[in-house]
Amino acid sequence: MSNTKKQVLISGASVAGPTLAYWLKRFGFEPTVVERAPQIRAGGYPIDVRYEAAEVAMRMGIWPRLQREQTTLGKLVFVGAHHQPINEVNVQGLTKSTELERFWVEIMRGDLACVLYEQTKDDVEYIFSDSIQTFTESEEGVEITFEHTSPRRFDLVVGADGLHSQVRALAFGDEAQFEHYSSYQVSVFGIDNYLKLDRATILVNGVPGKQVYVRSPKGDGVAGAMFIWKQPQKLRYDRHNREEQKRLLASIFADQQWEVPKLLEQLQTTPDLYFDSVSQIRMETWHRGRIVLLGDAAYCPALLTGYGSTLAMIGAYILAGELSATPDDCRAAFQRYEQAFKPYVEKEQKKLQSGADFLIPGTPLGLWARNHLAPMLARAVLVPEGIVRRLHPWSSMLKSYENTQTVL
Ligand SMILES: Cc1cc2nc3c(=O)[nH]c(=O)nc-3n(C[C@H](O)[C@H](O)[C@H](O)COP(=O)(O)OP(=O)(O)OC[C@H]3O[C@@H](n4cnc5c(N)ncnc54)[C@H](O)[C@@H]3O)c2cc1C
Repeated sequence: MSNTKKQVLISGASVAGPTLAYWLKRFGFEPTVVERAPQIRAGGYPIDVRYEAAEVAMRMGIWPRLQREQTTLGKLVFVGAHHQPINEVNVQGLTKSTELERFWVEIMRGDLACVLYEQTKDDVEYIFSDSIQTFTESEEGVEITFEHTSPRRFDLVVGADGLHSQVRALAFGDEAQFEHYSSYQVSVFGIDNYLKLDRATILVNGVPGKQVYVRSPKGDGVAGAMFIWKQPQKLRYDRHNREEQKRLLASIFADQQWEVPKLLEQLQTTPDLYFDSVSQIRMETWHRGRIVLLGDAAYCPALLTGYGSTLAMIGAYILAGELSATPDDCRAAFQRYEQAFKPYVEKEQKKLQSGADFLIPGTPLGLWARNHLAPMLARAVLVPEGIVRRLHPWSSMLKSYENTQTVL
């Protein structure tokens, strides 16, 4: 075994990147994280940290902080096109009654990223406002050129740079080979909480195949609007052109009533617009030579599964753990990471289409069924899930690497 610390370059500082940096550092590696944005991107939308990812967070010592920062799912209110009430379900009450809240938090993506960054920033080098431009592999390592920073050599490179990963494009080629488009498009943006929602989500049922949610996750002045719609032909637009995306969204929802026109007015001035296809990434393999992918870059499950961040954190822990077991043989470690984790990922990815078709029904009958059956279904899913998780503690499924790693 070599006695120099392995230098690992991680592209992306959201959920997967900083989690991996934490564990690599703890296992004796020297990680550097490069992030294209000028700082950790705050705000965004609420995401979940569940089960084994909760265990990873506990082992990192950040679980109490995540619990403090968590958002509240609260009440889910189904209303008609003119805001007439249809049904409601108290999701918070359900998770409390099943004790799921012991190992499941919902938190703003930006808050999670900030906690992970704060946990690592004193020990890990972060380079903001930059991106990998090229890499060249050799026996000695990987020569990296950046857009701004001077060229450097690393032992390994990890792509944790999301659905549209630059590392994946450089190492494996065009994204289209790996993207599985679900036929849905999504847009999320921040608005003023002018509806005075207090920890509640309103689901507006206008037209089949088009769903609008308005949500205030913390009951403060901040709220978010989410638009999801069926889009059989994938939209073509410039991913970096916000104005074009706003025009597209406004035209697609121009036929909607109730608050939708007002929400679309707020769209014009929102500071944080997210606009993307609901897509999965499926790859034969996540690694090539000294390059490996992690999180959405490798296996994006698509946002409707609610598992993206959970899979990003578990994957980071397993990847770091396997690297620590054979620090001089990264290929063997990548192989074991993939073998251990791919079946778990594939199981979650399979849930996408049925979930999407139920959540965004394409027919009036489907809408009726969703509105009336969703509260019952939530009970039917969450209550047994709580019982199963109580009987089979989730932590037993996650191998512990802390005491087995090779100290470099
Ligand atoms: C609307 C919405 C709702 C969601 N809801 C949930 C949910 O309820 N539960 C859940 O678990 N998941 C949810 N997700 C998914 C979740 O956000 C992602 O799966 C998760 O954030 C994946 O983390 P990641 O670190 O792999 O990638 P990302 O969070 O996508 O982060 C990638 C990072 O890489 C950076 N980057 C990109 N390109 C480059 C480059 N060239 N160079 C350097 N840096 C780069 C980006 O700026 C970003 O910081 C949702 C997603 C969306 C969009």
